[in-house]
Amino acid sequence: MLSLKEIKEKEEKYLLSTYARLDLAFDYGKSATLYDIEGRDYIDFGSGIGVNSIGYGNSHFAETLKEQIQKLIHTSNLYHISNQVLLAQKLVELSGYDMQVFFSNSGAESNEGAIKLARKYGEIKFSSKRHKIITLKSSFHGRTLATLKATGQENLHRFFSPFPEGFEIAESLQEVYTKVDSKTCAVMIELIQGEGGIYAFPKEEIQALERFLREREILFMIDEIQTGVYRTGEFLASQAYEISPDVITLAKGLGGGIPIGVTMTKHKDIFKSGDHGSTFGGNFLSTKAGLEVLELLSQYHKSKRLQETIEIFNQELEKCLQEFPNIIHKKQGLGLMLGLEVADLQTQQNIIAQAIKHRVILLRSGKNVLRFLPPLIITKEEIEEGFQRLKSALKKTIS
Ligand code: PLP
Repeated sequence: MLSLKEIKEKEEKYLLSTYARLDLAFDYGKSATLYDIEGRDYIDFGSGIGVNSIGYGNSHFAETLKEQIQKLIHTSNLYHISNQVLLAQKLVELSGYDMQVFFSNSGAESNEGAIKLARKYGEIKFSSKRHKIITLKSSFHGRTLATLKATGQENLHRFFSPFPEGFEIAESLQEVYTKVDSKTCAVMIELIQGEGGIYAFPKEEIQALERFLREREILFMIDEIQTGVYRTGEFLASQAYEISPDVITLAKGLGGGIPIGVTMTKHKDIFKSGDHGSTFGGNFLSTKAGLEVLELLSQYHKSKRLQETIEIFNQELEKCLQEFPNIIHKKQGLGLMLGLEVADLQTQQNIIAQAIKHRVILLRSGKNVLRFLPPLIITKEEIEEGFQRLKSALKKTIS
């Protein structure tokens, strides 16, 4: 196995330096615990940025995927794919929405699908051929040119002009109302902003916006790439918000680490054959992974184990809030998509670095939030151990 030093040397020589990486390389994992290449254990409160929903080393998952790999990984979408229709059916049934599904390979790609769908909807639905899509400040929708333009973080827009036209960013939910005009075909938002500070929008405000858009036949598109697949305690955050979106996008937690993206919509007749596609999207392997993840997590949800885990995790966060009032200002988020607000960027960075030293993995969000996205199957023991380590890290941050 390569040492950390050797990995870093090769990285410098062969990889484009798009990532600021921590001084860590992992070898394997079990449940919600990761082991680095020197065998040290880390409690994972980040799950690969919300991806490893079923944790690590699940032998049933591994066996099922192994069987699928031996049988067939990929055929292309020139042919019918049984796993693809089964996963689409499962997604539609779990959502409770009357929708159809398109499969891709990542979050950005799912949102690209949503954007294309909205553009075609705007073109054929309205005589004025609408194309404008409104998104929100502090949002994150991806790194492709269109999804980056849709992302409401100006600092990410430097260098890459010209961007596709037809996006407008509202400063707040209230400003969406004033930005809607005769060119608007869709509004795309996250219900809880994952990269933008774990900010959960108030339910009544989301429901009011949904009504406003519905009256005007403007699409309400919900980016559930981070909130979806039981992250907030329900299969979709849209269900927790009791709304019925026109378009929903998913990715991250659905494949348990195997890349997969989903664009789901009620508007089944917009895309026609040839309008959209993907070579890898919905292949045998990724859709098998999605089926297995949903099988496991839907049982977890049904048996109330997920709810118990959410309660335990939230209680531990509350305790942190009470024990460290000088460092932690407030707790936010929903389910197992949670944040602790601290004073500023420096404090956020210090705590995350201390946490790593104490072998617990946290994520950042926005400029002053510690983000928690643990694997949904994390055990009570792992939660307790992780918080013990976090508290030691917080004590070190004070001293
Ligand atoms: N949308 C949201 C809400 C996200 O959190 C992310 C990734 O962090 C994306 C879109 C982009 O997903 P991907 O990195 O898979 O393209």
